[in-house]
Amino acid sequence: MRLTKAYQPTLKEVPAEAQIASHRLMLRAGLVRQTSAGIYAWLPAGLRVLRNIAQIVREEQDAIGAEEILMPTLQSADLWKRSGRYDAYGPEMLRIQDRHKREMLYGPTNEEMITDIFGATVKSYKELPKMLYHIQWKFRDEIRPRFGVMRGREFYMKDGYSFDVSYEEAEKSYYRVMLSYLRIFRRLGVQAVPMAADTGPIGGELSHEFLVLAPTGESGVFYDSDWEAMDWQDMSLDPGKDEDLETLKSLVAKTYSATDEKHDDGAWQLIPAEKRREGRGIEVGHIFYFGTKYTESMGVEVSGPDGTPFYPHMGSYGIGVSRLVGAIIEASHDDAGIIWPKEVAPYKAALLNLRPGDEACDQLCEEIYALDPEAILYDDRAERAGVKFNDADLMGHPWQAIIGPRGAKTRTIELKDRATGERFELPFDEAVSKIGLR
Ligand code: ATP
Ligand code: MG
Repeated sequence: MRLTKAYQPTLKEVPAEAQIASHRLMLRAGLVRQTSAGIYAWLPAGLRVLRNIAQIVREEQDAIGAEEILMPTLQSADLWKRSGRYDAYGPEMLRIQDRHKREMLYGPTNEEMITDIFGATVKSYKELPKMLYHIQWKFRDEIRPRFGVMRGREFYMKDGYSFDVSYEEAEKSYYRVMLSYLRIFRRLGVQAVPMAADTGPIGGELSHEFLVLAPTGESGVFYDSDWEAMDWQDMSLDPGKDEDLETLKSLVAKTYSATDEKHDDGAWQLIPAEKRREGRGIEVGHIFYFGTKYTESMGVEVSGPDGTPFYPHMGSYGIGVSRLVGAIIEASHDDAGIIWPKEVAPYKAALLNLRPGDEACDQLCEEIYALDPEAILYDDRAERAGVKFNDADLMGHPWQAIIGPRGAKTRTIELKDRATGERFELPFDEAVSKIGLR
């Protein structure tokens, strides 16, 4: 994308209510605009990041055999009356009436809807297990929306649901999802630690939250430094193998982690002092096993091997896709701006033409740009070099390719690695392959 053509409204001043770095940076870099309290429009660069995150979530969910569907945002109140949650949910639920005075709501989550769809279509134990997910907007009328997209009222969530024949099978589904989540967060370039959680209003028996470590997080966190060393991509745990799921389960059981709500000082003291990590974290995911709560309350049975009907065991699994955009920035920025992890960045590189109008500079820039116009943000504006450097640092592209008259003569490209600040002067071919353009 050429910056002279792009819709990239960066801001010099940000509203005073933007209290934390990610909120300020998202507004300054022109990723989102607030349209009403806790509701945001996603602008081109922000939307690219949102989509990149969703795509990683999708790939890693598909890899454990989950199938993607798309359920609507609007739901009928009747569904929620069947489970008993219509009254229980309280004022966070946005309730709407249609023209026929039928009660509707903007979905805050989809347990009822998926249970209803499942119940109408799956009749036999032979069809189990099933794991379905969607990535869809949710609405919760948060009393105090704040921190930008991190606690919005409308937000984008991946929510998945599993159906199994027994507790034992459901527990495998649960750990399969946990492995998938740990891989997702690794690919997103953030350190996220699973922590045993209360089961809350959804209710249930087994639950973990995933917290991204960041100083502005809403929860206090305590964990064993062994969590930092685990690389879920490299570890050859196979989500299809029962023994590997057992390995994950025992790793989780023996490696301490807890939010302040669940922190246990006795267990903490048993960890060697040099391995104790304390800090703050942002909840980016939450998984539950809740048994037959919804299948029973909504009367959803399937027939077992001997024909006797039974209630399938369920789990539900959420990832805050839009919250992650803020959480990643919280965990990865400096005074100059955002530092995007490579897999989520809106562009692989900013291409900075320091002398637009200079024939050699223009020509070399066009040549680089033509390699992959989708992956490059070409700063072709007639601006001072300093403005371009500042904007590129603010936007946080992993690489900056800097073209000045001196380098252009010898076809030398100066690269800056945004994360480390390292600079390289490289010949054309080496430079473009380092950025990953070919
Ligand atoms: P929180 O405790 O932060 O209010 P929650 O426990 O109510 O979140 P869940 O029902 O577990 O949220 O939803 C799954 C995920 O959706 C959360 O882990 C979080 O990442 C995301 N999420 C929840 N509420 C919001 C919100 N208001 N804005 C953005 N993302 C949210
Ligand atoms: Mg939660």
